Amino acid sequence: MVDIPTLLGYSAVVLLLIAVLLGAVRPTGRRIAWFAAPFAAGAIGCAFLVHPSAFPGKTGLHLGAFFISLAFAFGWQAVRAFFGHNARWGWLLLPSLAWLAAAFVWFDRLGMEALNATLRIGLVALYTGLPAYQLLREQDPGLPSRRSLGMVFLVASALAVLALPFTVWLPQPLGAAPAETWAVVFFNAQILIEVLLASALMVTMSKERAAQQLYEASIRDPLSNLYNRRFLEDRKAAWQRGDRSTGRSRALIYFDIDHFKRINDRLGHAIGDEVIVLAARVAEASLRKKDWVFRLGGEEFLCVLPDVDHAGAVEAAERLRAAFEQAARTVGEEPVNATLSAGVAAGISGNPDFDALLAVADDHLYAAKQSGRNRVVG
Ligand code: GH3
Ligand code: MG
Ligand code: MG
Repeated sequence: MVDIPTLLGYSAVVLLLIAVLLGAVRPTGRRIAWFAAPFAAGAIGCAFLVHPSAFPGKTGLHLGAFFISLAFAFGWQAVRAFFGHNARWGWLLLPSLAWLAAAFVWFDRLGMEALNATLRIGLVALYTGLPAYQLLREQDPGLPSRRSLGMVFLVASALAVLALPFTVWLPQPLGAAPAETWAVVFFNAQILIEVLLASALMVTMSKERAAQQLYEASIRDPLSNLYNRRFLEDRKAAWQRGDRSTGRSRALIYFDIDHFKRINDRLGHAIGDEVIVLAARVAEASLRKKDWVFRLGGEEFLCVLPDVDHAGAVEAAERLRAAFEQAARTVGEEPVNATLSAGVAAGISGNPDFDALLAVADDHLYAAKQSGRNRVVG
């Protein structure tokens, strides 16, 4: 025979331990406290329910249910915080507070047990449905656990919704009928399984995000935030494989800032760096979203344009060159008048070998430098 207070006591301890554990693990995220908050609120709620007769009237039962509903609300906010959203205090506290006030003022006095239980379970459905919606809606291939966590919340929400029409008959804490041990066991087991799955998946998701951030950092150049040479090597292999099967055309714009050494010497390295960043921003702004811009090193850049023919690539390079000439007249207050030269090469669909294409673009860049700079050679 399971003793209800002991069971609730265990739940309180487990929840408290998870709260402490999550506080210690500190999943990455801007508002770490939100990860522990739902478990702490759940532990307080269970603690009230261990011995509710220690409190006058139904105060213990109501406060227990109130903190458990807060645990669900804080769980929703933990998911929101993970995606960088601020707490909506009104939405977090007011529904539970309104229920608590109504429980004390009306439901007890008028004996509206069923309505009381329906609203309480409705809150659970709401606060598990909201994170389910949020998690299943976000698009993020770097976070595979996001869908599993969304499903955990969705199942919790579906169970609460399914219980709603039966609250009159279901024993407490599942409904409004007098408490029965099986209902308490079921309720506890369900909450503990949800909580364990949710906390494990939350930790996994934050590890996935950390891995994603490390990967992002490894493929980018810290000064310009463009893709770096290492990432070009990765992409090159993938492109070559893909081009062979799809026969896709691809064009390259290889560009280099003119007389950059003079800019450094005349105005200093800091201004030189600003000119590099400016070139990166101008290249991104002049090209399409699906084009790739790499900083190969120093003041040399490579743009990869999928599905563009030779004429289109020359046109894009000319647009880039003119935009940079315009943008780099002054940097800060300094007259800089930087320009760039570009070499273009396009692969006709079939088998555009990337390195061969790159060599052609490099030759064309050299020709652009030889013929006076600030120009595009295709
Ligand atoms: P050209 O018109 O022929 O391209 O002449 P250039 O002076 O631009 O030629 P070069 O490629 O020889 O000069 C590149 C210079 O860029 C040399 C190097 O000191 C400088 N440089 C390389 N990386 C950086 C960087 O990150 N920041 C700054 N400020 N300068 C850099
Ligand atoms: Mg140069
Ligand atoms: Mg150079």
